Amino acid sequence: MSQQSSAETSLSLARSHELFAEAQTLLPGGVNSPVRAFRGVGGAPIFIDRAEGSYLYDVDGNRYLDYVQSWGPMILGHSYPSVVQAVTEASQRGFSFGAPTQAESVLARLVIESVPSVEMVRFVNSGTEATMSALRLARAYTGRSKIIKFSGCYHGHADMLLVQAGSGVATMGLPDSPGVPAETTANTLSVAYNDGDAVAELFRTYPNEIAAIIVEPVAANMGLVLPQPGFLERLRTLSSQYGAVLIFDEVMTGFRVALGGMQERVGMTPDLTCFGKIIGGGLPVGAYGGRREIMQLVAPLGPMYQAGTLSGNPLAMAAGIATLNELRQPGQYERLEQKGQLLSEGIERVLYDQKIPAQFVRIGAMFCLYFSAEPVTNYASARRSDTAHFASYFWQMLERGIYLPPSQFEACFISLALTNAQLADTVAAVSAVLKKQD
Ligand SMILES: *Cc1c(COP(=O)(O)O)cnc(C)c1O
Repeated sequence: MSQQSSAETSLSLARSHELFAEAQTLLPGGVNSPVRAFRGVGGAPIFIDRAEGSYLYDVDGNRYLDYVQSWGPMILGHSYPSVVQAVTEASQRGFSFGAPTQAESVLARLVIESVPSVEMVRFVNSGTEATMSALRLARAYTGRSKIIKFSGCYHGHADMLLVQAGSGVATMGLPDSPGVPAETTANTLSVAYNDGDAVAELFRTYPNEIAAIIVEPVAANMGLVLPQPGFLERLRTLSSQYGAVLIFDEVMTGFRVALGGMQERVGMTPDLTCFGKIIGGGLPVGAYGGRREIMQLVAPLGPMYQAGTLSGNPLAMAAGIATLNELRQPGQYERLEQKGQLLSEGIERVLYDQKIPAQFVRIGAMFCLYFSAEPVTNYASARRSDTAHFASYFWQMLERGIYLPPSQFEACFISLALTNAQLADTVAAVSAVLKKQD
């Protein structure tokens, strides 16, 4: 297997490297969010100049098919005309008022109509804010303190959620990052994804202390791990039985795997749902919503305090409304599924023909290729993937004009802008890269 890093790529990236050198003197690691720094694949990130449709253009004039999509939001493709128009028009009426606008009700109605478990919604500015607030709400509603999360699930960077992956059995939360006091995570119980028995055990141990289970209904922050049959249903049963709130963190899967998110695909009703990414159409938006009885506790209607100077921002609402309106057109998710199938069939054939020990995982318009001989069902198995092989694959795909997430532990995204020909080109690139690595 050949190893390759950015130093050896034949792409011309001189301007990106210059800008990265400058950025590193001004921003920690040269970035404003860690994974952008390409540490997961070695080498330096490429700096983006602009994007249109399925393409990203970097500052050196290279063009790439974009499978990152700003980590999920750009499901229509970049600079989508109706979204650009909506944001432009909104900006001409003023950027922010800190007062109610009708746009907030329009986007709220779109979310509520698309996701039946959501009866009321509160908009915030990021997925982090959404999960943090939903957990505060669950604790306010139940009067309990403990929460259950799953190893390898990412719910943003709130202190209480930065808990090191446990090793199969329940681990009392040990903070993942310096700066997070142990007291803050002491109530965070972490168990392996897909381990319903471990969750049942926690409820037996703390029958009256668990406020909520928070779960990514498809785990999309350790690569892509699907829920095994019965896992999510078991969480629903246990949380109902013990009076805990079930929170689906659909920041990634909401409006991605179906209009109604993963809960639509599995026919389930969580108590609260978190959103982000797609509902902002590329502008900073998050949201949490759910049963009216619970949402009524949110201030000013109820006592649970949560606020935001820029929450419900008119430009962000405009981008979200335009994006959801496009996604609600008939046939959009069928189109995404058909594009996903084209890619699946192509890549699975490559793996089979070339006898590559890798796992291709896909649901709807998201996928991941694990360089691992064993099926990936949780964080521990995801971590056993060959990250050096992934890094080499990543750089060679980049060289062929395919921009993938720069980490084995991130999901790839398909946008409606990707044509069948571009998907076929992608499969051809995967085939060529994996063949070369034999
Ligand atoms: C991205 C993500 C978050 C955090 O959202 P930010 O907008 O980055 O704060 C939370 N949960 C899930 C599942 C995510 O994918």
